[in-house]
Amino acid sequence: MPAPSGKVAQLGAALDAGELRAVDLAEQSLSAAEDVGGRLGAFVQLQRDTALADAAAADQRRAAGGIRSRIDGLPIVLKDNIAQAGEPAGCASRVLEGYVSPFDSTVVARLRAAGAVIIGRTNMDEFAMGSSTENSCQGPTRNPWEPSLSPGGSSGGSAAAVASDIVPLALGSDTGGSVRQPAAFCGVVGMKPTYGRVSRYGLVAFASSLDQIGPIAGSASDCAALLDAISGHDPLDSTSLPAPPLATADALDGDVSGLVVGLPREYFATEGADPAVLEGVHAAVADLEAAGAKTTEVSLPHTRYAVAAYYLIATAEASSNLARFDGVRYGHRAAGAEGLTGLYERSRSEGFGAEVKRRILLGTYVLSAGYYDAYYRRAQKIRTLLRRDFEAAFAQCDVLVTPTTPETAFRLGERTADPLRMYLSDVTTVSANLAGLPGVSLPCGQVEGLPIGLQVLGRATEDATVLKVADAYQRLTDHHLARPEPSA
Ligand code: GLN
Repeated sequence: MPAPSGKVAQLGAALDAGELRAVDLAEQSLSAAEDVGGRLGAFVQLQRDTALADAAAADQRRAAGGIRSRIDGLPIVLKDNIAQAGEPAGCASRVLEGYVSPFDSTVVARLRAAGAVIIGRTNMDEFAMGSSTENSCQGPTRNPWEPSLSPGGSSGGSAAAVASDIVPLALGSDTGGSVRQPAAFCGVVGMKPTYGRVSRYGLVAFASSLDQIGPIAGSASDCAALLDAISGHDPLDSTSLPAPPLATADALDGDVSGLVVGLPREYFATEGADPAVLEGVHAAVADLEAAGAKTTEVSLPHTRYAVAAYYLIATAEASSNLARFDGVRYGHRAAGAEGLTGLYERSRSEGFGAEVKRRILLGTYVLSAGYYDAYYRRAQKIRTLLRRDFEAAFAQCDVLVTPTTPETAFRLGERTADPLRMYLSDVTTVSANLAGLPGVSLPCGQVEGLPIGLQVLGRATEDATVLKVADAYQRLTDHHLARPEPSA
């Protein structure tokens, strides 16, 4: 079995050998972020001075023989909804223009403790609401494989930054697919951990029962190293799992013999799915079989209700979470408004973009007296049924393998006028959030020069298993090494 071919291991070895310094890496990332990143619209802010200082400190630590983790000295970027003391956390929204976070999120505190070098903050859909990184007050991010296409969303800036080799590591957040779908569209690896695995303290809340921060990187082994650094119980997040930090990177042994891979029928029968994408996924399944895995068809019969349930629950929670942006304590404050209600109305009308407003309205509606039972409560019942579907499937198999998305990347502008069509593109990702399961997306080939994403879902808490399957596949194939031509 060849060893994992991740950048974390490669760069770590080069740093150890003194062939490279963390300052050189930070400098390269910063200049690529300005250059390629600028053309792609991947960043909302860069942190040159602190990045170079942190990198110099990492070099000193290493020289003194005291590195803190596998990712010590490595450059990383953060989605703009992850709080960092003294830096903006704008969530690509006008409502948070000028906001500077007074504290570090737990993931940032853990990245610092691990010695990672934060380079800057990446573009996203406003408050993580979207699947294309077009709902940003900073303008869209472009797909590094083809700039007229969307990189996916909402963590499009983070995925584009990794795909164009600006940084080896990034963090995104995944409420209904926002790490996995952009990873699929950009040809990189993105993981949504088990709900509660990574602390949400300091992640600006979209839908609290679904949100998870997740790693984006060039390989499963790199994602594992990053997940290990940020995972583990946090008393500041009451939904955090009572478990120590993971050590998934140590458990990657490339062995999938005897592992049972379930193929959920419904995920291969999505209306409008590109047959070439499904073919790519089947070919990847055949590779896993050749490595000794067994396959079995399973059914997740309530899948057809998942998108509807997701868009009721997520909007309900968003309407409550976003109430804090009232122009008083948080958020843009309109000038010249009359009275308190006038201030709320004007501030929120001016501050939020169209998609966020649509969701606040929908969420408020489904929670209102008379509609709560018809919509919100029914959606919660569907959530339970989806969870049971997965339990039944996981009685027959160890992991599920599906396409991450029914199609490859779509055109910028193609779906902005049709929110329902945009929502329907989340059909293959939202169920993992509703059920709280870990899921990883990894590249498994291309259709007409665009990456296809393979999704591996696991039982709750079995984050290590999905990474192990993804890593085993990457030891057998080299789809994850394909990179876009640098754009001119
Ligand atoms: N595309 C989904 C939505 O628009 C998921 C977003 C996310 O995961 N943050 O809600």
